[in-house]
Amino acid sequence: MKLDAKIPPGPIEKKWEQHQLDMKLVNPANKRKYKVLVVGTGLAGASAAATMAELGYQVSAFCFQDSPRRAHSIAAQGGINAAKNYQNDGDSVYRLFYDTIKGGDFRAREANVYRLAQTSVKIIDQCVAQGVPFAREYGGLLANRSFGGAQVSRTFYARGQTGQQLLLGAYSALERMIGLGRVQMHSRHEMLELIVVNGVARGIVTRDLVTGAVSSHLGDAVVLATGGYGNVFYLSTNAKGCNTTANWRAYKKGAAFANPCYTQIHPTCIPVSGEYQSKLTLMSESLRNDGRIWVPKKEGDKRAPHEIPEEERDYYLERKYPSYGNLAPRDIASRAAKEACDSGRGVGKTGLGVYLDFAASIQRLGESAIRERYGNLFEMYARITDDDPYKTPMRIFPATHYTMGGLWVDYNLMSTIPGLHVIGEANFSDHGANRLGASALMQGLADGYFILPYTIGNWLATAKLEKVTADHPDVKAAEASVAARTQQLLSVKGKRTAASFHRELGQIIWGECGMARAATGLTRALKRLPELRQEFWSDVNVPGSGASVNQSLEMAGRVADFIELGELMCLDALEREESCGGHFRTEHQTEDGEARRDDERYCHVAAWEYVGESKKPIRNVEPLQFEFTHLATRSYK
Ligand SMILES: Cc1cc2nc3c(=O)[nH]c(=O)nc-3n(C[C@H](O)[C@H](O)[C@H](O)COP(=O)(O)OP(=O)(O)OC[C@H]3O[C@@H](n4cnc5c(N)ncnc54)[C@H](O)[C@@H]3O)c2cc1C
Repeated sequence: MKLDAKIPPGPIEKKWEQHQLDMKLVNPANKRKYKVLVVGTGLAGASAAATMAELGYQVSAFCFQDSPRRAHSIAAQGGINAAKNYQNDGDSVYRLFYDTIKGGDFRAREANVYRLAQTSVKIIDQCVAQGVPFAREYGGLLANRSFGGAQVSRTFYARGQTGQQLLLGAYSALERMIGLGRVQMHSRHEMLELIVVNGVARGIVTRDLVTGAVSSHLGDAVVLATGGYGNVFYLSTNAKGCNTTANWRAYKKGAAFANPCYTQIHPTCIPVSGEYQSKLTLMSESLRNDGRIWVPKKEGDKRAPHEIPEEERDYYLERKYPSYGNLAPRDIASRAAKEACDSGRGVGKTGLGVYLDFAASIQRLGESAIRERYGNLFEMYARITDDDPYKTPMRIFPATHYTMGGLWVDYNLMSTIPGLHVIGEANFSDHGANRLGASALMQGLADGYFILPYTIGNWLATAKLEKVTADHPDVKAAEASVAARTQQLLSVKGKRTAASFHRELGQIIWGECGMARAATGLTRALKRLPELRQEFWSDVNVPGSGASVNQSLEMAGRVADFIELGELMCLDALEREESCGGHFRTEHQTEDGEARRDDERYCHVAAWEYVGESKKPIRNVEPLQFEFTHLATRSYK
């Protein structure tokens, strides 16, 4: 497989501008002749579908929820970054670019990240024009706060519900196009297969989740905006429906899967409280603007937090990383929490928790200021834990949150299958081995509003597309494979639920490929996962039929794909013999427990190529060059 990133030549600040000039355009009258299929209507998909329809393309959009408004993006809490420098605190496009490259531990593509930083400023203007109610200062200027891995305040927010407000903006734009008949919206449709004709992506096969009808949809380009795969861990902060199925189908049809082992564990989530749990809750990183993280200095100290005097507390992030303090990046803050708990200083019944304490801020700013900034998050915490975080510190612990890995894309956001574009969290993204907080919303909207609508035009203007009709043998074969797989899931009639397999998978992945990874554990997982896959296909029980709503069937299909993806994650983690960002191999650490990269051997993207059932996939490599930043050891001390 040839990985050509198609990075335009020239100085980094001019690459995108020049590329926009160099790309071929589709003239306005011709745009309506092209049909683009957009799978996913979260922030990335809704913004892309609305913008392309506005440009004049015919668009069909798909989501499995009953409304685009229910995409997981709606859960995003803390904010969205942009290099506006409203605070006059030294921010710039270059600084956002540099922070993102460094935050990702020098494992992202420079040209893409620079373009992301450039585009960030437009996103805010676009959203304000749509009426997104960003928080404002008293004088009317948009307000900002800080997120991890940055020493400036560049995060725009709408209380703790930024994703919801941004999605309402994108959704309104999409609905407008639906109303005008320029987007055909297919809600409650799940993409279960990609149609590839003569090596080019030409359509998808969906199952109507209400009637069970399987149908194909053809077009001139396919866009996957299907989100991340964090639910492979079973317990995560993602919405329960988030899955990898669309990406996995594309992978099996020839799209390379990049860096699957790069997953993000978020340091501030409500700790697991029992085995019955199927979901975890994030406490936004924004809370670390005003909350201080600590554990008791003494091992096994079970006193209530207010009984532990100041001098017996270890504010370990402030101690270890004085320049960034509580706003150290997520991978570093998560590992530090794990280290504190591993040393017997964790708090709460399970010992798997650390305190996030607002007492000092409340004393300094008053309770009302804190309530104004984080009121809905405090309320959510109080409802779940029955503790009052205004009076007693929150208990938090790291949890799976985001996936930096995803389908490999070139500078034009096209995968290794011509015509198949991938945007938002579904692609392997601009975040390298660790995403900085508030950068996912920025990336999804940059891709959807500003990048894909240009690059897809270049594809449509230059590709020589043959006519494909519904009776084409490749279309029929894709439909048949969906029907066969559905039938196969229904006919096992075993004894275990899909959820029980999912839970077991999650325990394996969390244990062996979570916050810390080692060759022994990964090898163990790689032995167990194929067994689990076999057990699944011989013992899963999917009640009901495929001819109507059947959530067990939906879940079983997704779990089957997660099991296979889990194997690829472990393989990727095993072969990457270094530590970088969220990928922490215990064999590769410095004396003080920090990640030790190996730039000689691993300064590259690993893009996995599917070669057949039960065969080891091929590991392709895209070397990463750092021309505009210095490939340095990352430090937040
Ligand atoms: C709790 C939480 C809080 C967060 N807070 C922030 C934050 O403050 N700032 C920030 O930058 N990031 C945040 N993130 C990350 C951010 O929310 C996500 O990365 C981002 O919203 C993903 O957007 P997306 O459009 O790529 O995917 P999603 O919003 O996940 O949308 C995926 C879409 O794909 C569809 N889909 C999936 N599979 C199929 C299929 N097979 N067939 C048909 N449709 C399919 C779904 O229906 C959906 O419409 C947060 C994440 C979580 C979990």
